[in-house]
Amino acid sequence: MPRFFIHDAPAQRVVFGAGSLARVAEEAGRLGIARALVIATPGSGARLGAQVAALLGGRSAGLHAQAVIHVPRAVAEAGLAAAGAARADGLVAAGGGSAIGLAKIIARDTGLAVIAVPTTYSGSEATPIWGTSEGERKTTGRDPKVVPRTIIYDPELTLALPPAVTAASAMNAIAHCVEGLWVPERTPATVAYATEAMRRFGAHLPRAVADGADIEARGECLLAAWLAGAVLTGGTGLHHKLAHVLGGYGLPHAETHAIILPHVARFNLADAGEAHERLAAALGSVDPAGELAAMVQKFPVPRRLRDVGFDAGKIDDAAAQVAALAITEPRPVSVDDARGILSAAL
Ligand code: NAD
Repeated sequence: MPRFFIHDAPAQRVVFGAGSLARVAEEAGRLGIARALVIATPGSGARLGAQVAALLGGRSAGLHAQAVIHVPRAVAEAGLAAAGAARADGLVAAGGGSAIGLAKIIARDTGLAVIAVPTTYSGSEATPIWGTSEGERKTTGRDPKVVPRTIIYDPELTLALPPAVTAASAMNAIAHCVEGLWVPERTPATVAYATEAMRRFGAHLPRAVADGADIEARGECLLAAWLAGAVLTGGTGLHHKLAHVLGGYGLPHAETHAIILPHVARFNLADAGEAHERLAAALGSVDPAGELAAMVQKFPVPRRLRDVGFDAGKIDDAAAQVAALAITEPRPVSVDDARGILSAAL
């Protein structure tokens, strides 16, 4: 008998294909957006943002290229002010999770529709989860208002994504998949997405990291990123909760995911038979946790928590925070368990 589940995925239009950014004005029109404020990060993100604003033509209300990772409060307030000053009636977020994250906060507080043009693999565009930060504390929540109404995936925009961001944001996406196989909220659909995304990442991510211009591998990874993001609509478990706790110490988001994933996987897969089986098949390895560790070893990402600014003195505090969450599935996590995972990752 299949287990009980509730599948509650947000309705989203997804446009996928090389060159599909050219459709952005048409997609804005479809949503009735006449004055879209383009949200991006500074630097190369601003160049993409300017390109998007130009393509929007008469439907552009300007560019706000001031998104910052984890949406610090001042950045959120500046974004809201910019949307008001531009009299925006919609938002186009172009870039990775940082640009999309700022658009989500503006959407949460104004109800404006968001079109996402993702250029990394982290998957925020497919989730109803928003996040902000204040100092070292990160706050997240869920709100249907923040779900981008339309996603435009254009693999051509990812060709210049540096190998380190390619690897780290994909490991973030892979974490959505791995965790999606054991969270209590999983459904037959999210489990199928997770398995398919893992298979595509396993086969194509090493190629995309080795040669960023490999458009075939880029396309496969972006497609996998969509599926992986869609998995995250189904709740989070030990992996994301631990990453959230570590984010509170100011650790880099995607890199932290990459570092802890093999350790969390080794711990949880010991008690998650079906997840183990699916991952083993998707990655073509009898030891999927070992395979994930081998991936991290080969990629240009930090391998240890100590490499990203976490030190042994914080283990007890972090472990206590994790244990207080009283996670039970696929197995309970005691303070000692959390300490063990953190020490191994250190
Ligand atoms: P990011 O958006 O912070 O981008 C990382 C760097 O890569 C930036 O310097 C950016 O300018 C650059 N970059 C992005 N795309 C590029 C491209 N195509 N070519 C060249 N450079 C490019 O990275 P991220 O990992 O996608 O996002 C991290 C943020 O997303 C965090 O704040 C995290 O909490 C959030 N996130 C949220 C969710 C969610 O569901 N709400 C899911 C995953 C991540």
